[in-house]
Amino acid sequence: MPVPTHVDVLIVGAGISGIGAAWHLRHQSPGRSFLLLDSQREFGGTWRTHRYPGTRSDSDLHTFGYRFKPWPGVPIATAPEILAYLGEVIAENDLARHIRYGITVTAARWSSDAARWTVEFRDGETGATGEITAGFLWMCQGYYRHAQGYTPDFPGMGDFAGRVVHPQTWPEDLDYAGKRVVVIGSGATAATLIPAIADAAAHVTMLQRSPTWFFTRRNADELAETLRGLKVDEAWVHEIMRRKKLRETAEFTRLALEQPDVAKAQLLEAVRAEVGEACDVDRHFTPRYDPWRQRIAFIPDGDMFRAIRSGRASVVTDTVARFERDGVRTGSGELLPADIVVTATGFDLCVFGDIAFSLDGAPLDWAQTVTYRGMMFTGVPNLVWVFGYLRASWTLRADLVGDFVPRLLAHMDARGARSVRPELRAADADMPIGPWIDPENFNPGYLLRGLDKLPKAGAKREWRHTQDYMSEKDEFPAIDLDDPAFVYT
Ligand SMILES: Cc1cc2nc3c(=O)[nH]c(=O)nc-3n(C[C@H](O)[C@H](O)[C@H](O)COP(=O)(O)OP(=O)(O)OC[C@H]3O[C@@H](n4cnc5c(N)ncnc54)[C@H](O)[C@@H]3O)c2cc1C
Repeated sequence: MPVPTHVDVLIVGAGISGIGAAWHLRHQSPGRSFLLLDSQREFGGTWRTHRYPGTRSDSDLHTFGYRFKPWPGVPIATAPEILAYLGEVIAENDLARHIRYGITVTAARWSSDAARWTVEFRDGETGATGEITAGFLWMCQGYYRHAQGYTPDFPGMGDFAGRVVHPQTWPEDLDYAGKRVVVIGSGATAATLIPAIADAAAHVTMLQRSPTWFFTRRNADELAETLRGLKVDEAWVHEIMRRKKLRETAEFTRLALEQPDVAKAQLLEAVRAEVGEACDVDRHFTPRYDPWRQRIAFIPDGDMFRAIRSGRASVVTDTVARFERDGVRTGSGELLPADIVVTATGFDLCVFGDIAFSLDGAPLDWAQTVTYRGMMFTGVPNLVWVFGYLRASWTLRADLVGDFVPRLLAHMDARGARSVRPELRAADADMPIGPWIDPENFNPGYLLRGLDKLPKAGAKREWRHTQDYMSEKDEFPAIDLDDPAFVYT
């Protein structure tokens, strides 16, 4: 199907945020034309891109799923299960006709005279370029570059006789059966991958510079099982489980921030119970930072710890000195023999989908803008971005923004406005402005590496992404759209 010449709302990205945005428009803003564009061949974003063995969520799907579509499975889901869920949302809401795949947005030019965006795109298959105009841009392009992951430039990589792979670009033909695998990194990706390949591989070594905090628990929930046993409607189970998970997350977050030592002790106790004597927990599983400064990876059913306890996987805490022909030499001089090295070293932050934005002919530098609640940007008209929660499920925010945009569009109609943009108010003149996210508060590597490219945040709540769902779920619906922070033309 060809790309139309104009839509009221253009959604960039058909991952979980973009599909959610489409649902909200369809149900809360009927009559408005909209289109989703995605560079990939199919929907799903993150869940399509990541194809390494065992790819799964580390949030429960009651909160990572949408509020409007019950999740009927166990809390932690595999990528195929998440894709099937998203596919159902598309089918049940007749969204397929609104999506064009294989189309990369390359530029977006705002014209104040026309009060619309002109968006340039390229068809990945034919190379053809085109344009579409849109009254409003709903950016659901995520936060990292899908084409490739982040791999540090390790010395001697060219000398290694085996294969180096990044989980984000996992080769379909990679045969790891009977092979010695070194996985560099210990984030959620490594923790997912290791138990998935440990049985087939000769041995898997997780080489980490420093340890990561892990949660571990059975991948099931007694309350959900009880409710289902009582034949309670799935929509109710979903809502009850959402509330339960949200409360648990909020309580643990508060504990981690207010009593980090208690939180640490709880996490370590669970790890010790799983890993037993198989490894030195103080050395390999006790991070230097407090819990929740980075996302805590969830290990369902302790599967990674079981792989370690069985001896099929082991952990080395050390630096990479260099790659050699037969493996990886650590900083302390040990050679970790390897046939395959997996660099589970993270994402490459990509700000606004590598799209060249301009406003009335002037290039837009996002780092010069201040965010309004982590979704709009000073001086940038008719645009929102879904940047989800990092400590809670991303999708919780996709739904909050999903309720906000139709309300904003209806308010513009009621005012007869063609554009809306946030601007700092006179009362905000002396407000301290800082980075998008406070590196002292939350500091994953991919964000720190790209902090200078991201919009800025202010000291007041409305000028930052607070990462606080429990407050924002009440604050967002109460946003006064006539506040002077919103400038309408
Ligand atoms: C393996 C893995 C597991 C994760 N697990 C969780 C979890 O359990 N809980 C959680 O909260 N978060 C998790 N995350 C974070 C996760 O990325 C988000 O939660 C969520 O999936 C992001 O969805 P999204 O739709 O906003 O963006 P994405 O999934 O990144 O999708 C963006 C889409 O936009 C497209 N796109 C980008 N730029 C352009 C462009 N210029 N033109 C056209 N299309 C473009 C991309 O091709 C992509 O399809 C995980 C991430 C990974 C990698």
